[in-house]
Amino acid sequence: MTDTASPFPADPSHSDRDTLHRRGLMFILSSPSGAGKTTIARKLLEAEPELGLSVSATTRPIRPGEVDGRDYHFIDQAQFDQMVEAGEFYEWARVFGNCYGTPKGQIRTGLKAGRDFLFDIDWQGTQQLHQKAEADVVRVFILPPSLDELRRRLEGRGTDSEDVITARMARAQAEISHWDTYDYVVVNDDVEICFDKVRHILAAERMRRKRQTGLIDFVRELTRG
Ligand code: ADP
Ligand code: 5GP
Repeated sequence: MTDTASPFPADPSHSDRDTLHRRGLMFILSSPSGAGKTTIARKLLEAEPELGLSVSATTRPIRPGEVDGRDYHFIDQAQFDQMVEAGEFYEWARVFGNCYGTPKGQIRTGLKAGRDFLFDIDWQGTQQLHQKAEADVVRVFILPPSLDELRRRLEGRGTDSEDVITARMARAQAEISHWDTYDYVVVNDDVEICFDKVRHILAAERMRRKRQTGLIDFVRELTRG
């Protein structure tokens, strides 16, 4: 993709500067493992400096290479239960014996201030988040171009054993079956084209009338006799 073909300015800091105040949005990216969700999410965060990442809380032990506060907020079960009790999660789930949850905290205040957040969660978390905050949620599902290519990508990533890859492939079918619960579905064939499509979705969703809370005063001023 050349600069001339892109509607986005070369300086990314100008791309999402709105003239009117608006409410932020919750941008959810989901995909079967290996389809490219992490790749697209990284590119989006890089290109959109005003997009924050929602960091989940979890009770699972920290893995080598992970950073507390960046990858997850690593907390113990008592802290997690306390947060559930206090209603501090938008949604939470138990996965393979560990608890994972999306804290409301900075997100609730950020949305009011016009800040957008990216969520890297699966279809179950997406459904719960949509039930809690439908008006703020935008759901994007990324599909691989084929199952053969999905396997090639999982093998090429080099992070999983053959057993884990077989398990991920088996789960992929089930995950793909939830495609129709998303607002947008994008096939990740060429990574740059897929990224560009996802970025267009974000740009269009930011301009929705209901999010532009500054419009009422603006239009009132425009139409004042
Ligand atoms: P996920 O987060 O969905 O599990 P990743 O983003 O880790 O997937 O991508 C899986 C592998 O596929 C990575 O090695 C990544 O570099 C590669 N990949 C992602 N998108 C594409 C694409 N469009 N074409 C070829 N390889 C890709
Ligand atoms: P992992 O332990 O490999 O990082 O994640 C395991 C699973 O937990 C993944 O499927 C991931 O999508 C899911 N997960 C991570 N954070 C959350 C969250 O906040 N809520 C929900 N519902 N699932 C999450």
